[in-house]
Parts: sequence; C-alpha cells; structure tokens
Amino acid sequence: MARLSEKHKQALENAHYEIVGRHSAVEICSWCKKSLLDEGVCYKQKFYGINCHRCCQMTPSAGWCDQNCVFCWRAQELNEGIRMDADVDAPKKIVDGCIKAQIRKLSGFKGNEKTNMEKWKQAQEPMHFAISLTGEPTLYPKLPKLIKEIHKREKTSFLVTNGQHPEMLLRLKHENALPTQLYISVDAPTRELHTKIDKSTNKNAWERLNKTLEILPELNCRKVIRITLIKDMNDCCVSEYAQLLEKAGDDVMVEVKAYMFIGYSRKRMEKENMPTHEEVMEFSKKLAQELGWNVIDEGVRSRVVLLAKKDFKSRIMKFN
Ligand code: SF4
Ligand code: SF4
Repeated sequence: MARLSEKHKQALENAHYEIVGRHSAVEICSWCKKSLLDEGVCYKQKFYGINCHRCCQMTPSAGWCDQNCVFCWRAQELNEGIRMDADVDAPKKIVDGCIKAQIRKLSGFKGNEKTNMEKWKQAQEPMHFAISLTGEPTLYPKLPKLIKEIHKREKTSFLVTNGQHPEMLLRLKHENALPTQLYISVDAPTRELHTKIDKSTNKNAWERLNKTLEILPELNCRKVIRITLIKDMNDCCVSEYAQLLEKAGDDVMVEVKAYMFIGYSRKRMEKENMPTHEEVMEFSKKLAQELGWNVIDEGVRSRVVLLAKKDFKSRIMKFN
C-alpha cells in the first residue's frame, strides 16, 4: 500500500505542505499568495494565462521519484520508493481533498486587509491543477483518471514529468486523458550529463528520456520542454540540446529557466550555480538560433525565457 511515513509527513508539514489522503500533498504556491495580495504573478500567468490565485499546486506522489536530480528542492533521503504500489487513493478523493486543503490554507487571507477580496472569493474555487510540487506524478498508477477527474470539473491541468515514463504518457493518450499542458524536464544535453545531473535509478534512463521526446509529436496537447539551466553544469552543448529537442517536433515550446538555490538543493549545489537572467537569455538565444526558432517571451523575476518555432495567438489561454 502506498503511504507516506510519519517522518516524511512531518517533514512535509514542517515545510507547510498539507497531506491529502495517504500519499498526496498540496502547498500554496508563493505566487498564489502574492497574487492574492496584488504583489505580482508567476511567469506562467504571463506566458500561458493561468490565474495564480486560482492555482492548486499538488502532487499525487509526494514521496516517490525514480531520479535524484542534483537541483531538486525535495528531501531525497526521505524517498519512499521508485515505484508506487497499485493500492493507491482514488482520484476523486485526491481532487476533493486537494481543493479542501487549498481553501483551508487560504482562509487566513480573509482577515488580511491587504488581500484583494475579489480574488480571494474566486480562489474558493481553484481552477488550475499544477501536478508537480514534489515527487514524480507519472508513478501514480491512476494518473489518467486523476486528470479526467480534474477536466470533468472544467478545470485545467499542468503535468510536469521527468520524462522517464513514456508508457504512462501513451496511456494518457489512449485513455483520452492528456493534460491541458504537458511539461517534460530535459536537464541534460548528453547521456553523460544526464547521468551526472538527473541521477536516475533507471538503467536505461537516457533511452527513456529520448523515447519520451520521440512520442511527443503524437500527443495532441500543449507541450513544453523545461530546461533547468545550471551554471557550469549544463549551460553548454547547444547543438546537442538542439538535436534532442528536434525529436519532440516543432509544436513544442521550450522554457529555459535558471536553477534556483532553494530547499534541499542547497545541500548539493552552490549559490554560484544560479545563472543570471542575462545568462539564461544568452543561452536561449544561442539555442533558438541553432533550432531556427525564436525567443517569444521572458520572465525576468523568475529568470526564464520562452522559445518556440513561431508564437501563436492561443498561447495565452483565456479564463473567466
Ligand atoms: S502555475 Fe506554478 S508558479 Fe504559477 S501559481 Fe501555479 S504552481 Fe505557482
Ligand atoms: S524528477 Fe523531479 S522530483 Fe524527482 S528528483 Fe528530479 S526534480 Fe526532484
């Protein structure tokens, strides 16, 4: 049975996560809080139109991941395993529990005189599910049903995966459960750097990532490749990145985002591994040139640059 240990639960609660059921968790994103106070919004609101104050940042697999990325903010030593048991919580229970937890955690904003009350009222019904937070969500065996449960309620889903489970992405396709926007993390341009940076527990990790990129053209949803750029580690090999990205087709977007020196990654990394926004932009321009693509947007505060072959009108989604 998939269940977080008491020690793990405690560590997550200490980090302000709320545990939902046996293995899921919610954390109020700092951008959601900022948005409620009219202090700014995340770059995904700028790039894609989601509303931060209505975004639920959650995971159905809080303690499970098959990689040990050097830049990861989670406590990898508490990992519960590299595969989840088939005995897991039901998707409906997870979605209901996450919404309740989100609303409960936002209740304190009602008494804050700086809160934008119109946004706070809207936030009582979260509309976007960012399935990322911590752990690898494609390890949750009922992921197709979870995404369908979210969409059934007319909410959107952003799914972030480490690219190690192409078979789950094919299941999402075949079960008509592709997310609104699918993120694949590509943190290394070569097999050697992937071994060093992602520290996968899968022997054929590089092949799995490549297979994931190769099936992307057949997945009919919005797709983003995320490169977490780490100074002096993976900010090289532009032509190798381009060769890898070309496998994904030309209807993907690429986010190049600076590594941030936060959470448990501070135990493994140096502050100097964070590139500046200018360095992210310089790398992105080189990559765009190599691909024959364009830089189409940027988020200076988050040190992120967006590339695409061609910008398109529906990139910024419209929500009520
Ligand atoms: S999209 Fe991500 S960064 Fe933006 S509010 Fe949601 S969880 Fe936070
Ligand atoms: S795949 Fe994601 S959750 Fe797993 S170690 Fe890497 S960054 Fe962390």
